[in-house]
Amino acid sequence: MPDDSARTGRRPAEGGHGFATRMSHAGRAGTRVHGFVNPAVHRGSTVLAPSCAARREFAKRRFDQFLTYGTQGGPTHYALEDVVAEIEGGTRSLIVSTGLAAIAVPLLAYLKAGDHCLMPDSVYGPARALADGLMRGWDIETTFYDPTVDEAGMRALIRPNTRVVYVESPGSHTFEVQDVPAIARAAHAAGAKVLMDNTWGIHHFRPFAHGVDVSIQALTKYVGGHSDLLLGAVTVNSEEDWRAVRGAASQLGQYASPDDVWLALRGVRTLAVRLKQQERSGLEVARWFESRPEVLRVLHPALPSHPQHALFKRDFTGACSLFGVVFQPRYSEADLCRMIDGLALFGIGASWGGFESLAIPTTGSITRTATSADLGGPAARFHIGLEDPADLIADLERGLALLEAR
Ligand SMILES: *Cc1c(COP(=O)(O)O)cnc(C)c1O
Repeated sequence: MPDDSARTGRRPAEGGHGFATRMSHAGRAGTRVHGFVNPAVHRGSTVLAPSCAARREFAKRRFDQFLTYGTQGGPTHYALEDVVAEIEGGTRSLIVSTGLAAIAVPLLAYLKAGDHCLMPDSVYGPARALADGLMRGWDIETTFYDPTVDEAGMRALIRPNTRVVYVESPGSHTFEVQDVPAIARAAHAAGAKVLMDNTWGIHHFRPFAHGVDVSIQALTKYVGGHSDLLLGAVTVNSEEDWRAVRGAASQLGQYASPDDVWLALRGVRTLAVRLKQQERSGLEVARWFESRPEVLRVLHPALPSHPQHALFKRDFTGACSLFGVVFQPRYSEADLCRMIDGLALFGIGASWGGFESLAIPTTGSITRTATSADLGGPAARFHIGLEDPADLIADLERGLALLEAR
């Protein structure tokens, strides 16, 4: 791995520190900006070289030692890349424009015409759209599999041309926890790469300790944390994978605004404390839902009632504050919408990980082809923000009364 600590001002990571400490210290400006704590926003397209010969030399060693053009990012990007590599426990991270771009870049890095890809049925919807859209058009076939598959089941799904096994744990909307180490063993035995969307797990799931080759984060969510930016990160743990994803991102013209990157660096400084609070508030609201007669089940991996709770306890050190609620089948989708429309403290909107609470109905908007989309009743997804949980519960209690107000 090239040592670019001089370039980024990063001091080599010191082991043994807790997550909050690392989020306070990683990616600082170092010694290069007169002692100011934070990196500056470096905006730029042109990068000047001292001579023609130097420019030729820079181009040969671009990405590792030298910048030749703004699309390769700059010091602001490198600072966030260092932080995300620290969060994910990988060697190197790449910042791209959105979480979805962070999904597309490694898929396109490893797949070519004639290849086969495996994706969990519970995959993030726009990732499924990419597999069913552009990828299919390029003769890359994708099979969607039951996310609860075991090692033998995964071995049976793998074909001679399977190049990528994609995982997302827990799954979007339905929150199945995957046996990532077992899936990775089957994938690696067949020479396939394991790509993981680790947005829900953030630092609570260590992808590279569980057999993942490339980890994907939508920084838009908790890292940004304030619902005011879109960014993604692709993190790897080997030089070979770095070359593959860096090359693909470059060919695809991937770039992120340094202003957004700087905002994400600001988000990082409070990430540990926000996550801790939101995990606690999320569990409080989830447990409250579970105690209510209007609720059939709560889809939250940290609750003992979750079908893969044992896997969650084995592989995760904590949870974020996004979960699902399935209501009793006696309620209709219209009843559920009346409830959500009546909430005062929950916004109705996509995305999550910000400081504010959100609710959206999921019934009717999830696609499943390998498993059933029927959860047993109308369902909604809740994101718990930084409000007082007692206020959120009081609001939800008023909302539940609206379920019956036909
Ligand atoms: C939101 C989300 C993404 C994509 O992030 P964007 O920045 O909105 O493109 C990817 N994966 C998961 C699981 C998400 O929830």
